[in-house]
Amino acid sequence: MIDAAVLRACFDALPYVVFVKNSKFQIIYGNAEFRDLIDGAEFYGKTDADFFDEKIATAYRKEDEQVLRGKPVYCDEHLGDEVAAIVSKLPVTFPNGEPGIVSIGLDLGRKKYNNKKYWELRSDRDLATSEERLKSLEAQLLNTVHQKQDAIAMAMTDPATGLRNRNGLEADLIAAQRHFDATGKQFALAFTDLDHFKKINDRLGHDVGDAVLRGLSQRFLKLDGLRSAARMGGDEFALLFDVDETLDEDQFQTLMNRVQSMLSLPMIIDRKTIHATGSAGIAVYPQHGCDLSELKKNADAALLTAKADGRSRVQIFCNAIRDRSKRRRLLEDGLQSAIKERSLDIAFQPIVCSQTKQVLSVEVLARWQHPELGAIAPDEFIQIAADCGLLSKLDRVIFDIACGQLSPLLAAGRIQQFSVNVSPTDLTDVGFANDLLGRIEGHGLTPKNVCIEIVETASIHDLKAAKFNLDILHDAGICIALDDFGTGFSNLRSLLDLPLDRIKIDRSLVRDMETNRAVFDLFLTIVQLAGILEVSMVAEGLETDFNALMIASAGVTHLQGYYFAKPMCMDDLVVWLTNNEAIAPKAEDAA
Ligand code: C2E
Ligand code: CA
Ligand code: CA
Repeated sequence: MIDAAVLRACFDALPYVVFVKNSKFQIIYGNAEFRDLIDGAEFYGKTDADFFDEKIATAYRKEDEQVLRGKPVYCDEHLGDEVAAIVSKLPVTFPNGEPGIVSIGLDLGRKKYNNKKYWELRSDRDLATSEERLKSLEAQLLNTVHQKQDAIAMAMTDPATGLRNRNGLEADLIAAQRHFDATGKQFALAFTDLDHFKKINDRLGHDVGDAVLRGLSQRFLKLDGLRSAARMGGDEFALLFDVDETLDEDQFQTLMNRVQSMLSLPMIIDRKTIHATGSAGIAVYPQHGCDLSELKKNADAALLTAKADGRSRVQIFCNAIRDRSKRRRLLEDGLQSAIKERSLDIAFQPIVCSQTKQVLSVEVLARWQHPELGAIAPDEFIQIAADCGLLSKLDRVIFDIACGQLSPLLAAGRIQQFSVNVSPTDLTDVGFANDLLGRIEGHGLTPKNVCIEIVETASIHDLKAAKFNLDILHDAGICIALDDFGTGFSNLRSLLDLPLDRIKIDRSLVRDMETNRAVFDLFLTIVQLAGILEVSMVAEGLETDFNALMIASAGVTHLQGYYFAKPMCMDDLVVWLTNNEAIAPKAEDAA
């Protein structure tokens, strides 16, 4: 079937006037030549009586009636005494069963007749007969159709896989939507994306990568109920399926299984078996989006959810995802303004000496109240800031607010040091160290007052690139701590190259070592390691006195956790410090 848009383009390319009337003799379509002929005047719904005097209009009406009865009319039309045009009128049937009339003006000439715009016989009567003209028109029409179709097909195809490309998908989506309008047949859009395709490319080479994409494309084309398969670029594909009107849980499941099986079947390329897996997100029209852009957005949100839930999964769009992506957008926008307006808050959590229980330092933790959604968990907004490339801005804002609030306590000697969390990617910025030192000085503080915590999960690549910044900061006297130690997969050899002062044992180890012997052994090993690296140790997340006792007796000097104090605002910190000063023995007493 030729797409309506293709046909329209063909008719517009013809040097002949073509227009269509319905069974009420109203004009419902005119090609470019026709629109040109009537100087762009309104024509939709008009009849010949709107353009001609009664006598002519009646003559035309007679011809049209004959065509509606199924008999073509082929005639020289006379306007008054002149032959105005050679017209072929053909019967057609519209999709709703209604008969109609297609008129083709075989003559090119036109001029205004009695101030009415219509065509007039041009002087090229050289074409022998009208019969011949009709043949030449037919040939020309076919030719135009083929040329247009070829050009359009090429512009809509992905050359590497032979599937549709983005443009092709757009066209197929519009066609599927029209099909729904006409028949009520729903369709599903699936966005899919291979998991870790980059690794296949890197390890096995681009030729194998391309073969995987081609193999997958061939599989897609065999899927039941497939309307269209498109490659959107890279390893991203889109699939369009026909689905039943009554789409229930079972059918959703079948649809998911169909897609899942295509994505996860192993593939044999160059006698090697390749286990590629993929994730997909599906949205159904019109249930999950009543316009195409919403449908696409929701299929995309479903794909993101599938990936976030551990990949190699197929996820159908649902209200929970709708809520989540709405919430996500609210959070992204809100966080952006909060950073700009510096309307973030800070909580401070004391870190105490394991022997004297005196405060050694406080950790600065970001807090954020969304104007509508209330308090947002740091893990959630920190991740969003990282995804949106806002984390370094956030860290700077937090640092400045923290310096402002802590300056009086530092000046009074009530605390000596505070820790801030620094995003690993920041540390690879060339100017990071000098910028930080400048800001410390700007607040009237010294580098000794500051400890920066870097997460161990930062990639080794990032840590290596960060080394030059860390060296500058370390040489200036800033304390460098490796955070969440025990959760990443530290390359121990490369740790030796980093100027570390402290490692911070992760909360999960502290939590589990009471009940899990292997975790306890790991903890003891880390204590040994710290000795070899000649760094001090902090344990975070201490919640029980048993925790505190065991960890302190293993020789960990710095303790942090709810057992001593929860993170708190500045006013509460001041009160806590006063109480703590009263209870904790002085350092010299403890020694
Ligand atoms: P983190 O750096 O590991 O921070 C310690 C987290 O442990 C804090 O969570 C703190 O409230 C929590 N915690 C402390 N003691 C206990 C305890 O005894 N029991 C339990 N269950 N939890 C305890 P929070 O404040 O939710 O922060 C989560 C993470 O968000 C932080 O983990 C840190 O990675 C990140 N973060 C917070 N503020 C910032 C910031 O300003 N910049 C950056 N880049 N990251 C931040
Ligand atoms: Ca931390
Ligand atoms: Ca931590």
